Amino acid sequence: MNIFTIIILAAILIDFVLEIVSNRLNLKALSKQLPDEFEGVYDEETYAKSQEYTRVNTKFGFVTGTFNLILLLVFWFAGGFNWLDQWARSFEFGVIGTGLIFIGALVIAKMVISMPFSIYSTFVIEERFGFNKTTVKTFISDRLKGILLSVFIGGPLLAGIIAFFAYGGTWAWLYAWIAVTAFSLLMQYIAPTWIMPLFNKFEPLEDGELRQAIENYADRVDFPLQGIYVIDGSKRSAKSNAFFTGFGKNKRIALYDTLIENHTTEELVAVLAHEIGHYKKKHIVKNMAISILQTGIMFGLLSVFLQVPALFDAFYMDQMSVYAGLLFFGLLYSPVETLIGLGMQVLSRKHEYEADEFAAKTISEKEEMVNVLKKLSKDNLSNLTPHPFYVFLNYSHPPALSRIEAIRRVL
Ligand SMILES: [Zn+2]
Repeated sequence: MNIFTIIILAAILIDFVLEIVSNRLNLKALSKQLPDEFEGVYDEETYAKSQEYTRVNTKFGFVTGTFNLILLLVFWFAGGFNWLDQWARSFEFGVIGTGLIFIGALVIAKMVISMPFSIYSTFVIEERFGFNKTTVKTFISDRLKGILLSVFIGGPLLAGIIAFFAYGGTWAWLYAWIAVTAFSLLMQYIAPTWIMPLFNKFEPLEDGELRQAIENYADRVDFPLQGIYVIDGSKRSAKSNAFFTGFGKNKRIALYDTLIENHTTEELVAVLAHEIGHYKKKHIVKNMAISILQTGIMFGLLSVFLQVPALFDAFYMDQMSVYAGLLFFGLLYSPVETLIGLGMQVLSRKHEYEADEFAAKTISEKEEMVNVLKKLSKDNLSNLTPHPFYVFLNYSHPPALSRIEAIRRVL
């Protein structure tokens, strides 16, 4: 058997087994007993509902994961990639055109196949737990906008990468690295003003008590407040959130309207303080630097593996090509990506603690940070007792209880 077949197959299966094991542990860790900390925040019914939400989503994740795994294996071992490649080549559009058809067809197929799952998740699961606010119209228009963005932004980027590796010679990986880095910086810069508004309305937070409190806080911690926006998250879900986006002059803090509705001014300042904490501790810049470095390593390795016929043999290809190589390398690289991802999550959870600490130390009433974490957990029906192994594999944020304990420690 081809060595790449063995490596990729093993990686996919190990990943799948780890997912199943961690899910089982996670379900077993669901405790009947409400953690003391949440006494008075959750009533019995809400607590039971939050556990049911975890159960339902775990089951759904298992069905989706198994389906995708079987689909990939069948397509792979039935020679689907070569069949698709021959079809794409029949148009005779040259390497870039053929590559766009080859990868485009896979993307479209994946989108169509995953559609029933996302319909079920939105209109059945989220609906059942009272989260869903998405109308059929919004759902369809979201998908259409997503397709347009893929075509007009993803398409040229993919064409560029294929061109670099097809014609760039030895230094192709360097050109691709520079291009992709420039591109992603540009995207981050324009996303808050050009792309996100396609999906949500951003409105400047109006004058009033909340704005005043936020401005006072920003002054006190010496944060250059450029834009605080309210975003209509309620258009899709009752869940609430806040985030930081863009950089430089385009920096924005967005608060979901659902968040504003459910929290006091003090709690909202605490949320904002947490977001500002990420900025003050330079988390955004650090993440960006790591991801740029990672892209470089990936392109360097890609340029090596594009020359290896055995990688293409593993997928029963008659001919080698840059575009198919991109895809196969992606599969080969996925265990490395998983490992890097786990490292990034460890870092991200550390950053969350740091942002919490910054917030707790700079807001006037420290308990507000604890209160807001409790309320957010409740509003989003978060699992209060996730298994540590599950957290290790899947959580970018530490569980609420750990965050609360950490805040208490620094108080
Ligand atoms: Zn955070």
